[in-house]
Amino acid sequence: MLKGRTALVTGATQGIGEAIAAALAAAGADLVVHGIEPQARGDAVAGALAAAHGVRAAYVRADLADATQAAALVDSATQALASPDILVNNAGIQHTSPIDSFLPDRWDAIIAINLSAAFYTMRAAVPAMRERRWGRIVNIASVHGLVASVNKTAYLASKHGLVGMSKGVALETATDGITVNCICPGWTETPILTPQIEARAAQFGGDRDAAIRDLLKEKQPNLTLLPPSRIGEVAVFLCSDSAVGITGVSLPVDGGWTAQ
Ligand code: NAD
Repeated sequence: MLKGRTALVTGATQGIGEAIAAALAAAGADLVVHGIEPQARGDAVAGALAAAHGVRAAYVRADLADATQAAALVDSATQALASPDILVNNAGIQHTSPIDSFLPDRWDAIIAINLSAAFYTMRAAVPAMRERRWGRIVNIASVHGLVASVNKTAYLASKHGLVGMSKGVALETATDGITVNCICPGWTETPILTPQIEARAAQFGGDRDAAIRDLLKEKQPNLTLLPPSRIGEVAVFLCSDSAVGITGVSLPVDGGWTAQ
C-alpha cells in the first residue's frame, strides 16, 4: 500500500515509534528510523526492519532537545535514504510534578522535544512534499493534547500545542496533496509509563499489576493498556489513500478516556 514511499519516524527505536515504523514497513514503506541511541544500535534496528519486511531502511541519530539537530533531521534522512513522503513526529518525554516545584529544565526539555522538534521537522519536510503533491504527516500527541490531568503542566502545554500546530499546518497544506493529523493515545504499554506505574505501585506495596489497574480505572474506560501496535495500525490508516479526506484531526485512540 505504501510501496515507493519513504517514511521518517522520530523516536523509532522503542515503544510507539518502533511499532509505527514496523507497521509502515509492513505496509511497504522504506524507513528512516530516527533515534538518540548510538549508530550501531540504530543500524541494528533499521537492519532488522529491512530484513523482516523487505524494505530499505536507514538509521539517523539526532538529539531533538537541540534545535539545530532537530532542524537538520529531514536533510539527514534525505541523505541517508530519500526525502520523506511520510513524517511521523513521535519522539516525546514526560515529567510529572506540581506546578510550584516543576523544574524549569524539564519544562524546556519537554517543550523542545515534544513540540519544537515537530515544528522544525514539518518546516523542513513540507516543501518537498508540496513539490511531489503527496505527503502524510502524523504527529503523536496524546489524550493530554485534548484534556488535562494533574502534575503534567509541560506535557499538557506541549501536546495541546502540537494539536494546534498540526491543525494550522493542515490548513496551509490542504490543497497540496498533504494531510496533517494527530493521534492521541491513552495509556499505552511502553517505557514512558514506567515512572508513573512505579510511583503508583508504591501505594500498593509495590504491586505493579494493582498500580496499572488503578491508573486505568481512574481514566481509561476499557481498562486495558493499549498495545503500541494499535497506534501503528492507525498511523498506517492515516497514510493510506482511504484517509485522503482526513486532515487537521486529532484522533483519540484511548479506550474511551476522552468520551467522559
Ligand atoms: P518511549 O519512552 O518508549 O519512547 C519515546 C521515544 O522518544 C524514544 O524512542 C526516545 O529515544 C525518544 N526520545 C526521547 N528523548 C529524545 C531526544 N532528546 N531526542 C530524540 N529522541 C528522543 O515512550 P512512548 O510511549 O513510545 O512515546 C512515544 C510518543 O507517544 C511520545 O510522544 C509520547 O508522549 C506519546 N504518548 C505515549 C503514551 C503512552 O501511554 N505510552 C500516551 C500518549 C502519548
